[in-house]
Amino acid sequence: MLRDSFGRHITDLRLSVTDRCNFQCVYCKPQLEGRWVDRRELLTFEELERVARIFVSLGIEKIRITGGEPLVRQNVESLIGRIARIPGLRDLCMTTNAYILADKVEELRKVGLQRVSISLDTLNSEKFTAITGQDSFQKVLQGIDAALAAGLKPVKVNAVIMRDINDDELIDFARFARDKGVVFRFIEFMPLDADHQWSRNRVVTLEEMLRIISAFKGLVPLPPHTLSETARRFQFEDGDGEIGIIASVSRPFCGQCSRIRLTADGKIRTCLFSIVEYDLRALLRSGAGDSELCDFIRDVVDHKEERHHINDPDFQPPRRDMSLIGG
Ligand code: SF4
Repeated sequence: MLRDSFGRHITDLRLSVTDRCNFQCVYCKPQLEGRWVDRRELLTFEELERVARIFVSLGIEKIRITGGEPLVRQNVESLIGRIARIPGLRDLCMTTNAYILADKVEELRKVGLQRVSISLDTLNSEKFTAITGQDSFQKVLQGIDAALAAGLKPVKVNAVIMRDINDDELIDFARFARDKGVVFRFIEFMPLDADHQWSRNRVVTLEEMLRIISAFKGLVPLPPHTLSETARRFQFEDGDGEIGIIASVSRPFCGQCSRIRLTADGKIRTCLFSIVEYDLRALLRSGAGDSELCDFIRDVVDHKEERHHINDPDFQPPRRDMSLIGG
């Protein structure tokens, strides 16, 4: 089992398969074409499958496929199929902006994808275009419906809540969760945007969100599925619908962190906010054997940070932006 120096079990791998994205979300601001990582630097499907296999052999139970936008990686379905067949992998999910999900979801389900988390930061079509840079609100709604119809369960919908941008929609999002039967998760705005426009006063905290939503409908806390679950879960008191709040800034959950990340260009990040990275790709491409890779990963986990430092005066945001980390 992978255990860090604070005794935390690392069971959850976030695997980024590309830095490319077809959106330009204001809280991320991915690199534009021309500044993307050279394709030769991205891990190949063979390399991604091999490292996934090695991580699972070290006790990883859950793999979340991320990006950029994972569905823009060509033939990503075949990669999902290869990873889904790894013995011992218990949970395979994906975070996507759903722009092309409706076209691919049936195939993804067939090859073994179990669930999806879909980013949707507004229910207003014009605001959607302003936040994402893409006029494709309806396509994302179709993606949500297609995921529900394909039987991926649960379908989670994530919104990054930013003051004076979409915090006026908290009750609309709650209604959407109840009407659609999706789990809506509200994410506190984090300092991961490429142009470093984040500031604390733009963060809408868990307390504020709870106050606003429970004025609409009473909420009952739900127990976490696992100790390391990032969202605090709530059910509406009438039993109709569930929401979650991921409060990384106001209520950090690092004490139970079970996560490790691999970037699309093969760097291990032991924390979302790491300012150091470990080059697994170099080792992979140097012909290292599986046991050497296992030793390297164990050693890296031993150096996992205790927590993020967002609330510390000397906080330094990561040098990589979100689209190159993969959330
Ligand atoms: S901020 Fe880092 S340590 Fe904290 S929960 Fe996230 S990944 Fe884990």
